[in-house]
Parts: sequence; C-alpha cells; structure tokens
Amino acid sequence: MVMSARRDYKEAMEIDSCRVCGGDGRITNSFGGGSKSCPSCHGSGRRSNEPLFRDVTKTKESHHKPTNRVARVEKQTTPSSASGLVLAQEISRSTLSEEARNRLVREIIEHEETHGMCTKTFVRKVRKQLG
Ligand SMILES: [Zn+2]
Repeated sequence: MVMSARRDYKEAMEIDSCRVCGGDGRITNSFGGGSKSCPSCHGSGRRSNEPLFRDVTKTKESHHKPTNRVARVEKQTTPSSASGLVLAQEISRSTLSEEARNRLVREIIEHEETHGMCTKTFVRKVRKQLG
C-alpha cells in the first residue's frame, strides 16, 4: 500500500492524472478481480476538482502585464506615406496648438488607412488649416 501511494503521488506531481487511479480512469476491485470506473475522476483519468498548488504561478499576472501593455499602447502615431510625413512635419512646425496638431496628424493617419495614401486634395485641405 505504501508503495502504490508513493507512485500515485509521484505521477500526480508530473502530470495532471487522477490521484486515486493514477490516470487509468479505472480502479481494480481487489475482491472480485474486475475493475470499475474511478469514483474520483469518473473514468477520465484526469484530476479536476483538486486544486494544484503549482497552479498558483499561473494566476500571477505581474509577469505578463508589461508586454501586454506595450502591445496595447503600440498604435501608429506617425503617417506611413512620404507625403503624409512631410505634412506631419509641416504641422509640427506650425503655430497651431498641440491639441490641433495632434488632431491633424491623426487625420492624416486615418486618411492613409482609408485611402492607402495622402491624396493631393487632402494635403491641400490640411495645409489650409495650417494658415
Ligand atoms: Zn481516477
């Protein structure tokens, strides 16, 4: 009995197998010689309702948070087309308020996303706002 208990414990540490049947899903009836479904895992052989202390590390989010935050913040802040970049430079040199400049640059990026480029009409329209 001691031997089998130790074996079950070792297997439970290595894989998520049921501690009662050792992952077989069945337990041998020592009286009749037959076997029946394990009452602990109902034949699946997997541990389910017993919390594993090593799972505590999985709930720790502090390790993953920094990378998630970087990925979420990473949004395009500069135009991708040449004419859009030139326009953004003109905006940054303008006398407009920072809020207005940021809004115009966002408009360029959105315009590029929908049109795939900065159209001449759009460039003219933005330059008009620069005064
Ligand atoms: Zn079992």
